[in-house]
Amino acid sequence: MADKTLHDLFIDELRDMFDAEKQLIKALPKLARAASSAKLRAAFESHLKQTRGQVTRLEKVFTSLGEKPRGKHCDGIAGIIKEGDAVMKEGFDAEALDAALIAGGQRAEHYEMAAYGTLVAWARIMGHTEAARLLQLNLNEEGDADQKLSNLAEGGVNQKAANKAHSGGDEDSERSAARKSKKRGKTR
Ligand code: ZN
Ligand code: FE
Ligand code: FE
Repeated sequence: MADKTLHDLFIDELRDMFDAEKQLIKALPKLARAASSAKLRAAFESHLKQTRGQVTRLEKVFTSLGEKPRGKHCDGIAGIIKEGDAVMKEGFDAEALDAALIAGGQRAEHYEMAAYGTLVAWARIMGHTEAARLLQLNLNEEGDADQKLSNLAEGGVNQKAANKAHSGGDEDSERSAARKSKKRGKTR
């Protein structure tokens, strides 16, 4: 019987995000530990605190809807976390690893922004105003976290990693790298 409604879907997606946030509470300390940049570490730690608050907010959302707070395994965020775990073991230098941690972190933030954006829209259209208000606060925090990561990447982390990759970073070494790869028969 296909009789489940948008409201049922809304509750399902809330459970998905409740679980996603809990997975992130476990993952963020690992990202913080793996970061070499003190600012990046601090960013992950401060988002961990925010994430704990987001779980509390989601509990209030459930309550406001007359539902018990309950999670349902979020495969999407699990996949993003799994990729992040893998990149930490691949032997990247400290600067490249910081760039990779930001890239992974931003994947998670964008996933959350998409999910909360949808949840806010659905809450509004169904007249769940308190839920919409609380979900909008989580959405805002995800957007801020994403922006902070962009600022760190563009404010030095990427440059440091690029300097390490191209230590003699001038045109000559670029040309000799191009020559070498030609010799090896690479086409890129
Ligand atoms: Zn509803
Ligand atoms: Fe979150
Ligand atoms: Fe987040």
